[in-house]
Amino acid sequence: MRDCVIVGKGPAGISAALYLKRANVNCVIVAKDYGALEKAHLIENYYGNKASGLSIAKAGEKQALDLGIDILDGEVIGIEYNPNGGFIVKTNKEDIETKKILLATGKARSKINVENFANLEGKGISYCALCDGFFYRKKKLGIIGSKQYMLKELEDLKKFTNDITVFTNGEPLEVDVDGVKVVTDKITKVIGENRLEALECSKDVYQLDGLFIAIGTPNAVDFSKHIGLVMNKNDIVVDGNFMTNIEGIYACGDVVGGTLQINKAVNEGMMAALAIKNSLKNI
Ligand SMILES: Cc1cc2nc3c(=O)[nH]c(=O)nc-3n(C[C@H](O)[C@H](O)[C@H](O)COP(=O)(O)OP(=O)(O)OC[C@H]3O[C@@H](n4cnc5c(N)ncnc54)[C@H](O)[C@@H]3O)c2cc1C
Repeated sequence: MRDCVIVGKGPAGISAALYLKRANVNCVIVAKDYGALEKAHLIENYYGNKASGLSIAKAGEKQALDLGIDILDGEVIGIEYNPNGGFIVKTNKEDIETKKILLATGKARSKINVENFANLEGKGISYCALCDGFFYRKKKLGIIGSKQYMLKELEDLKKFTNDITVFTNGEPLEVDVDGVKVVTDKITKVIGENRLEALECSKDVYQLDGLFIAIGTPNAVDFSKHIGLVMNKNDIVVDGNFMTNIEGIYACGDVVGGTLQINKAVNEGMMAALAIKNSLKNI
């Protein structure tokens, strides 16, 4: 079992890993890409370095690898409680048992930006198959997504109904959905006044009782819905030690909100790592 799984190799995740590794904590980073820095052409306000975001991110990653930190290229698609204590971090490559988790997943991106979507969130639109699938037994369901995370949610929904349609919203389907109906057209509108009634796509309208969102790789909002993290809008709420409302799960950097800057992410990564190191002493 790992002491700590860090999700994310941006400034927050790498900074935390450097402190944890040097404190002899058995940690691993899981990350799917370089996060926000991939999009930053030039960083001029970070100490000692005027460079592209990507080169800063790669330098951070190299520093971690040079120190012997394990970095798994992968997507975290779920977090579950481990019956033996701690957590299981489910990735598209392997499941990792761990005592602690640090979410350094960056700013949660917005969901699909179509008419009426926001109005019906929680009114037929759900983010967690395991939590809400039960309300839709034998009903007509849609699920939006095209990758491994969608497949995981789809498997959970199949326990409640066999009338499910996958909507990829124009993305290529990357997984085998084993005979489930798939619509690859762009989604244009969500229909319904006080409750979801249908999904309008570019070529047709599909009547639905429920719509589940499992787009791309899960972000902070998705994790929060699945395991019950307290959020303030799209930000994970943490205490002074960067611990969430769930004992053993920490978060830092852009994902907790505030000033979205490298300096802050790096500092919070350090602070979270020190808190995790101290908490491990008590196990
Ligand atoms: C265009 C642009 C310009 C910017 N310019 C500046 C600037 O000039 N100065 C400055 O200080 N800041 C700037 N920023 C902000 C800065 O990039 C962020 O504040 C910083 O990168 C936040 O670090 P982080 O580690 O919290 O998150 P991120 O750097 O976003 O890293 C998030 C990590 O989490 C990983 N991840 C997320 N979900 C999963 C999952 N489910 N499974 C696996 N991995 C996952 C991602 O792959 C990534 O590795 C800019 C940002 C942008 C977008």
